[in-house]
Amino acid sequence: MTETITNWAGNITYTAKELQRPYSVAAIGALVAASAKVRVLGSGHSFNQIAEPGPEGVLLSIAALPPVIDVDREARTVRVSGGVRYAELARAVHAHGLALPNMASLPHISVAGSVATGTHGSGVGNGSLAASVREVELVTADGSVVTVGRGDPRFGGAVTSLGALGVVTALTLDLEPSFDVQQHVFTELPLDGLDAAAFEAVMSAAYSVSLFTDWRAPGFRQVWLKRRTDQPLPDIPWAAPATEKLHPVPGMPAVNCTEQFGAPGPWHERLPHFRAEFTPSSGAELQSEYLLPRGRAVAALHAIDAIRDTVAAVLQTCEVRTVAADEQWLSPSYGRDTVALHFTWVEDTAAVLPVVRRLEEALAAFEPRPHWGKVFAMEAGIVRERYPRLADFRALARELDPGRKFANAFVQDILGD
Ligand SMILES: Cc1cc2nc3c(=O)[nH]c(=O)nc-3n(C[C@H](O)[C@H](O)[C@H](O)COP(=O)(O)OP(=O)(O)OC[C@H]3O[C@@H](n4cnc5c(N)ncnc54)[C@H](O)[C@@H]3O)c2cc1C
Repeated sequence: MTETITNWAGNITYTAKELQRPYSVAAIGALVAASAKVRVLGSGHSFNQIAEPGPEGVLLSIAALPPVIDVDREARTVRVSGGVRYAELARAVHAHGLALPNMASLPHISVAGSVATGTHGSGVGNGSLAASVREVELVTADGSVVTVGRGDPRFGGAVTSLGALGVVTALTLDLEPSFDVQQHVFTELPLDGLDAAAFEAVMSAAYSVSLFTDWRAPGFRQVWLKRRTDQPLPDIPWAAPATEKLHPVPGMPAVNCTEQFGAPGPWHERLPHFRAEFTPSSGAELQSEYLLPRGRAVAALHAIDAIRDTVAAVLQTCEVRTVAADEQWLSPSYGRDTVALHFTWVEDTAAVLPVVRRLEEALAAFEPRPHWGKVFAMEAGIVRERYPRLADFRALARELDPGRKFANAFVQDILGD
């Protein structure tokens, strides 16, 4: 490849034979049909080799595809091209008086790339972003377009697909009436005394709740509550309101964070932690995340606390969120109400990897599933065991892509293919 293409964090340089940016679905079809190996690049916000096509493969970006955002107000749905980013989608949907149920912490990620990896926000009643998808349109290995919607027996594999089934050119998502959100930040929630019931109470105190800690002490430095203004004000006896606007990473300026101190605003300006107007082209960080059964959250937090110094040494911040169970076969929140334990590390891979391994040992008893788009070291065989419908996904991949054109080393390893 003549261009050097890296992911957002800069820790991965793709080794593809060529980068292609086709401008139409027909051109994507022709390119895919003529290529032996293809991987699609979304907005490049993953931290591992998931999008890597290998030196003989084609890296295909759909960023040049004319963006489509077609809102159907009556049906409360939107058809959106896969390369559109959530920030742009959210603004368009909101202009029609409608909303997505949830967003990730950063709105600059592409829709197709996000749902492909099971990307999520927080909220005990909120599924991952893939849970809103009702239909996907894919260019498959022979260049033909296949549409898979809810009710199709293939649907369980079609959305959180790790890019292994084809090029997702468009998706149709469910919407709901627009709503306003107030964001309140609290400080200092100790781990001591946080039993399972108290954890449930904290995480259920608002529509979306995140806890943040740098693990330099046994507890949480910040609790972010995102409350829908159409839901009751929670009673928060267990933490003190922040006295200044805060960034999730201690000491960082909060200027790029979404509005706090309870100022009401539209859902898409409060559900992400970071403002849409702030578009970082790269980030000095690595990320890992482990999703495990929500009922085991407190025990898992104590297991991390036991290795707190090791974790804290390379940590910028750790975020705890919840995700409701969903039905995508490869979703890390498949079939279980989930607690998601996220780690923003320093950008030093050599220093971070041993800590990731130590952390995985500490969490092993809780059967964590790693976030597909982040750094992990778990053996593929162990990851595979955590997905009861993995064999169904493998069969679907073989049906839609018999020559395994869309399978890279990462996917083959995970699928045991
Ligand atoms: C700063 C930051 C904040 C983040 N916050 C969150 C968060 O709050 N919650 C969370 O869960 N995750 C979060 N992530 C992780 C991120 O959401 C995922 O890595 C997500 O996959 C990124 O989407 P992308 O478009 O950049 O995907 P890419 O990294 O470009 O690709 C990811 C996968 O999707 C596939 N893919 C992309 N587009 C297509 C397509 N059109 N057709 C078929 N396959 C495709 C790729 O082949 C690859 O397998 C964050 C990442 C960063 C950098």
